[in-house]
Amino acid sequence: MKISKRKVVIVGCGLVGSSTAFSLVTQGICDEILMIDINKEKALGEVLDLRDSIQYLSHNVKVKVGTYADCSDADIVVITAGAPPKKGESRLDTLEMGIKICKSIVEPIMSSGFDGIFVVISNPVDIMAYYVYKLSGLPKNQVIGTGTALDSARLKNFIAQIVNVDPRSVHAYSMGEHGDSQMIPWSTVTIEGKQFDDVIQDNKALVGDVSLDELVMKTVKGGWEIYNRKGTTCYGIASTCAGIIKTIFQDENKIIPVSTLLEGEYGETEVFAGVPTILNRNGATDVLEIHMTDNELKRFKDSATLIKSYIKKIEELKI
Ligand code: NAD
Repeated sequence: MKISKRKVVIVGCGLVGSSTAFSLVTQGICDEILMIDINKEKALGEVLDLRDSIQYLSHNVKVKVGTYADCSDADIVVITAGAPPKKGESRLDTLEMGIKICKSIVEPIMSSGFDGIFVVISNPVDIMAYYVYKLSGLPKNQVIGTGTALDSARLKNFIAQIVNVDPRSVHAYSMGEHGDSQMIPWSTVTIEGKQFDDVIQDNKALVGDVSLDELVMKTVKGGWEIYNRKGTTCYGIASTCAGIIKTIFQDENKIIPVSTLLEGEYGETEVFAGVPTILNRNGATDVLEIHMTDNELKRFKDSATLIKSYIKKIEELKI
């Protein structure tokens, strides 16, 4: 008899990778975590620290330093190697370095016989996820970028603060690029089914004047507000990634706005972009096509076009 274990490999043990591992460990989302980093001592340090947390948790998770050969029977490989953009750089500015790092990771993982699901965090995440999809040759459902899942969480927080409800009662997506061109289809935003616009109109005394443009700006700049103060962002993305992995392992069919390959949805092809996606144990199984206004659709397509222009640059890099 064989009971299969939920095995996750995390490549890149920096702040994002280690926070993701901690989130997985504390929530008991998997049974085994292997940590890989070009800096082997850093990987070992994180492993030893994570092991020390087990005693006071309600479950055991085996945490080890891993190798790419260990990916052969992994269920999920999280790619978070790379370095965040420096002050004044956009996420897109890290493309060349990110692609080089990604190639050095994905090729040995595929040589191991890996046939699980990649969850890509490294920026620029939509382009990196597309690259992992192409390089790995895996079916599209097996490559997921975290996309606008984190931006959507930020957006929900901002809306929740305005209307004074739990952010989990806000239904809102930021879509397109995990970057400056992302857009929010306001016509689809609801507070438990009530249109956000109606909530604003019916509660003028409570909420005052709400600027949607300002909310878009806050969502786009949300990461930088954190980065400029603490030099990194890690907990939000760690929780987002752990949430994606939990959805996969528990076969939840939960809809999360991750970056996935579009094959005609929203009129787009050959691009990874943040769209509401059904996630289950097969990975990204289906895209939810929400009805947007013409103007919203145009802004989504503009964002997809920008991502595509950077995808083209990968070929020019000749890596
Ligand atoms: P970090 O500098 O703290 O850690 C990066 C780690 O990657 C380091 O430990 C480094 O040694 C390792 N690394 C570098 N090259 C490697 C290679 N070839 N093989 C294995 N490991 C390698 O950076 P961080 O703050 O953890 O951020 C990591 C990535 O996550 C960045 O690309 C950042 O922009 C991205 N990020 C994405 C989101 C999102 O929403 N998608 C959010 C936050 C950060």
